[in-house]
Amino acid sequence: MPSNRNKAIFLDRDGVINEERGEYTWLLEDFRINPGVVDALIKWQADGFLLIVISNQGGIAKGLYAKSDIDFLHHQLTRYLHLAGVTITEVYYCPHHPNHGRCICRKPDSQLLEKAIARYSIDVSASWFIGDSERDQVAGEKVGVKCLKITPNTSLLDVVSVIH
Ligand SMILES: [Mg+2]
Ligand SMILES: [Zn+2]
Repeated sequence: MPSNRNKAIFLDRDGVINEERGEYTWLLEDFRINPGVVDALIKWQADGFLLIVISNQGGIAKGLYAKSDIDFLHHQLTRYLHLAGVTITEVYYCPHHPNHGRCICRKPDSQLLEKAIARYSIDVSASWFIGDSERDQVAGEKVGVKCLKITPNTSLLDVVSVIH
């Protein structure tokens, strides 16, 4: 029986979609899309994958920026991609930081992935997590998706054929 569940590619944000600057990024002027992102996402979307962003935003707990700042930035990101022909199903982020209390949604924990998997009926065995750090891989492994670790700020086109 063919599965009627969805397959998804979960994407880390900084270092994968946009430039990892080595510091928190919440202003549009500091947000630079990495090379190859649009073309790779168009290919994967055409292959039937949902595209879902999973991001740690500990700068919110630290008081560096507000949820409204990051919501605005993510709105601009999804609008930009939408105009380029890419639909981002959802952007999930953890606003917490371990210096300001415990949570179970910050990667390497997996609650954000679990939420997305439940909400969008995702078949984990057909899905992937693309990240640029160990904690992305650990989170992905906890929920049973395939994990791909890329070098930060390299083109997703380098790995476009790995995922199918
Ligand atoms: Mg990253
Ligand atoms: Zn959290």
